[in-house]
Amino acid sequence: MNPDFRSGHVAVIGRPNVGKSTLINALLGQKVAAVSPKAQTTRRRQLGILTTDNAQVVFVDTPGIHNPRHKLGEFLNQEAEDALPGVDVVLFLVDTSEEPTDDDKWIAIRLSRFANRTPLVLAPNKIDLVPAEALSPRLEAFQALVPEGTELVPLSATTGEGLESLLATVMEHIPPRKPEYEPEQITDLYEREIAAELIREACLLHLRDEVPHGVAVRIDEFTERGDEGAYIAATVFVERESQKGIAIGRGGEMLKRIGTTARHEIEEMSGRKVFLELRVKVLKEWRKDEKAMKRLGYKINKKKK
Ligand code: GDP
Ligand code: MG
Repeated sequence: MNPDFRSGHVAVIGRPNVGKSTLINALLGQKVAAVSPKAQTTRRRQLGILTTDNAQVVFVDTPGIHNPRHKLGEFLNQEAEDALPGVDVVLFLVDTSEEPTDDDKWIAIRLSRFANRTPLVLAPNKIDLVPAEALSPRLEAFQALVPEGTELVPLSATTGEGLESLLATVMEHIPPRKPEYEPEQITDLYEREIAAELIREACLLHLRDEVPHGVAVRIDEFTERGDEGAYIAATVFVERESQKGIAIGRGGEMLKRIGTTARHEIEEMSGRKVFLELRVKVLKEWRKDEKAMKRLGYKINKKKK
């Protein structure tokens, strides 16, 4: 392993439609985030993971929500205030083709509060839409919103201009650290992982010591069904046949209980309705099987309890 390897998180924050998803897709060179001319395409947090030979940068695409004063506020207060210490850089994306809006100002005030702890980079996007002579006064208008000395990287996510300097700027704040994700992983399927974790938690809650630690969960399907919510099919793996019986319970009662608990938790996490289908399988001694663990999404380098 390269001892100088860098790895870290970048929160991409900005009001809807400024180009957050487009930027992440452009940086990754492939589509991971939904882009739309309409606001509100990114409904939940999503990660874009960029891995090079020397670094791994995890971009967190934040939801574009109509009323940032309400929703983004929630995000910033709840998530950011807790999570910002875990973020290495905050990227404040704005749309240079328009004057700063009230929402931009509101977001800037919030972000400025974190700027002394977490480096802030102002990234005026869509410079391709701004006539050359209008650019510098427009940039100044945005710079006036953030603390003095905030780094500025004008760019265009669609033409690619400025992307390299953006990466270089971001990289200065990414510390030497081991990568978190496999190099081929470009999006973390965040929700899937959390859903698996919540199902596992529900198993442990209901099964208590009867199936100690021997539970792993694999999400087999996670599909969006529009207004109906999400459909999730998952397999609960246990190590022994006897444990399978316990996990299913008489007439499937135990599995039903586990499913109900997990479903409530997942619904709360994802903010929408969830249909959850669980089944139980025996995977003998999966904990001793590195390949099986990897397939189940466990990081092998994780410390064992
Ligand atoms: P988000 O809500 O912040 O994630 O914004 P999106 O990435 O969904 O982009 C919103 C719209 O802006 C889409 O129509 C994009 O194609 C467009 N867009 C994003 N970046 C640029 C840019 O640099 N230049 C131009 N001209 N359009 C852009
Ligand atoms: Mg988006």
